[in-house]
Amino acid sequence: MSDCLFCKIAAGEIGGPFIYEDEQVVAFDDISPQAPVHTLIIPKEHCASLNDDPDPALLGHILRVAHEIARIKGIDQSGYRVVQNNGADAGQTVFHLHFHVLGGKSLNVQMA
Ligand code: 5GP
Ligand code: ZN
Repeated sequence: MSDCLFCKIAAGEIGGPFIYEDEQVVAFDDISPQAPVHTLIIPKEHCASLNDDPDPALLGHILRVAHEIARIKGIDQSGYRVVQNNGADAGQTVFHLHFHVLGGKSLNVQMA
């Protein structure tokens, strides 16, 4: 999608270095971190949200990559949270599917 911010980041047109990249996804640090570690994982292929019914294999792969990000960041043993927002009520602001990996401190347990 030519006017999608995260498509541009995935293509390397804008943004900083990737923390991780493979054939399906890229990961990069959030521009406005909510925790000492705050990395986003996105598919290279545009998909707005879970409402687009992305391939379950891709979704499973992203969770494996979340573990890899936590390992790279050194928080796999201390703990990390994976967050994924869909739509306005969930606070989704960028409509290209993304998973937040958060950690590096004791996180608030509030869910909603
Ligand atoms: P959402 O609220 O949609 O789940 O999360 C979108 C996230 O993207 C936010 O945490 C926001 O800080 C991050 N973000 C928005 N624009 C940019 C950007 O240009 N670069 C990076 N690295 N993160 C961004
Ligand atoms: Zn996109």
